[in-house]
Amino acid sequence: MKKLISEFRQDMVSGDWILAASRRGRRPNVFDHKKHVFRKSVPKRNCPFDDPQKGGNSAPVLWYGSDHLAAGTKKRGFKDWFVQIIPNKFPALSPSKICPSMVSRNHYNFFNGVGFHDVIITRPHDRSLGEMSHKEAELVLRAYQNRYLRLKTEKCVEYILIFHNHGEGAGASIAHPHSQLIAMPIIPPDVSRSFSGSERYFKKCGHCVHCTMLEWELSKKTRIVFQNDYFVVLAPFASRVSFELRIYPKWHASHFEELDERKRIWLAEALVEALRRLRKALDGPDYNFFIHTAPAKVKYMEHYHWHFEILPKTGIWAGLEFGTGVEVVSVPPEEAAKMLRLIKK
Ligand SMILES: [Zn+2]
Ligand SMILES: [Zn+2]
Repeated sequence: MKKLISEFRQDMVSGDWILAASRRGRRPNVFDHKKHVFRKSVPKRNCPFDDPQKGGNSAPVLWYGSDHLAAGTKKRGFKDWFVQIIPNKFPALSPSKICPSMVSRNHYNFFNGVGFHDVIITRPHDRSLGEMSHKEAELVLRAYQNRYLRLKTEKCVEYILIFHNHGEGAGASIAHPHSQLIAMPIIPPDVSRSFSGSERYFKKCGHCVHCTMLEWELSKKTRIVFQNDYFVVLAPFASRVSFELRIYPKWHASHFEELDERKRIWLAEALVEALRRLRKALDGPDYNFFIHTAPAKVKYMEHYHWHFEILPKTGIWAGLEFGTGVEVVSVPPEEAAKMLRLIKK
């Protein structure tokens, strides 16, 4: 069996987990160290994701061709791929037939980093998700969802996080647009805190905290950036960074992967709108986004509501933030939302 490459370790005081992964330090870094111009400055011929298989990556575990984009076009095979998912060459977790169990030794708790770590690559080298058509973005969401559905049945998988790092400042080590999916054997601390918070609210008030918040925001509209029939993009009341955005389904839904395929195009529109507006308003900022959804093995959660969180790099954590966990937001969400609402097509 392949040697495991990482280890989950628990903080003795907070109970939180970290992942100590040794091989990831050898990842390539193909950035020009110039802010905001990195993607244009990386020559396409050196790009490891323009032709991932030529770059030494394994065959895709899932792919969709560009012929999915236009109805009625002929199937042209893999050479016309538009989105493909491959195992990460430098994974933070690796698959194993044996699920990890916790080891307690010398005061410390730890266990093996077992799981899956995929890369989801879109074909255009210099066109990010926010610059795609709704149909193209829908294909990316379809890939997210179908890979999620496949991995949630794996026995050691408890939580699946889909995330996207855009720009060097947001931690992307390869400039070519790509997202990642990590399937973990634990429920990560931030997500777990969010489940207990929403459960506490549900026990006290009898309804989903997110539904309550959405109803209020939709009636008040000051923090709404964009909405369509099924989704809403808003700047949260207690934003953690300036211009933080979230995308919520307007109906109660705890599991992202159960999204009805007819509604996926509406989600694609909301995601493209959110990213497009940030790009215009903030002159192409670096950002991270991720999907928060229910744990893989939990059937239904009446207190949890899946959503996207988009965090542009509008500030940096310094002493105050690290020391207190209180993030200082210099543009209030009401002002950010107003600015983003006014962005034209
Ligand atoms: Zn490329
Ligand atoms: Zn809800």
